[in-house]
Amino acid sequence: MKGVDDPGQASGAALPVRTCANCATELTGLCCSHCGQRRDVARLTLRNIAAQLPRQRGLLHTLAGLARRPGQVILRYLDGHRVEFANPLNLLTLTAGFAALLYTNHRFDLTPLLAGLAPDTLATQSRLLNFQFKYRTLLQVLDLPLLAAITWLLFRGRGRGYAEHLVINAYSMSAVNILYLLLFVVLLGVDGTPAFRIAWVVGSVVPFAYKAGVLYAVFAGTGRRWRAALLALAATAFAVGLQIALMTAIATWAIAPI
Ligand SMILES: [Zn+2]
Repeated sequence: MKGVDDPGQASGAALPVRTCANCATELTGLCCSHCGQRRDVARLTLRNIAAQLPRQRGLLHTLAGLARRPGQVILRYLDGHRVEFANPLNLLTLTAGFAALLYTNHRFDLTPLLAGLAPDTLATQSRLLNFQFKYRTLLQVLDLPLLAAITWLLFRGRGRGYAEHLVINAYSMSAVNILYLLLFVVLLGVDGTPAFRIAWVVGSVVPFAYKAGVLYAVFAGTGRRWRAALLALAATAFAVGLQIALMTAIATWAIAPI
């Protein structure tokens, strides 16, 4: 009856699909007006899976942005540029997954980090450290709600709600996971040498500075800058302290029966 039906009936192959394969809404354009799915869904093949990869361009764009101007990326995402950037929770899952894959499958020689410890605490500390190396990135994902609570409490009154703090921390942790991936390569290079200790310290300081820098960049424009800087440092220090405490508690519980 309607003009919309005509092309499909007339040419057959041109526009054969009239309802969305995902939600059955009647289609009027290239994408579904209700759910956004494209009209031209074909049966999955390796070729069309590959064809979808360039749409993940947002991933590299987001990571590059988080490396160069994290404050700007996060503020743009919070203020509505949702399609431009990768979803922060997906990004966190992906980066934590990659980092965890590497760290859980390689056992570093951690003796340089344990040098100087008394023999009676050596065994426990060694186990804790091994646990930390293996599961740090995964435990951080579990920590996200707590970290968001910390930054939300400290930056209260600066215009961002708890969910927005989840996003800020998820982006920040995603970038830190990429740093951990790079650190893994460096640690492989210095494994078993005294330089391992230096790499480990640098690998702990840089993420700390990055996280504090992100918080500062996001909140510097919302009040006094020096206060934002102090709060950023305090929040990051508090978060790191809590993370270490939690990790130690979990590790102690997990490795106790050994
Ligand atoms: Zn639809």
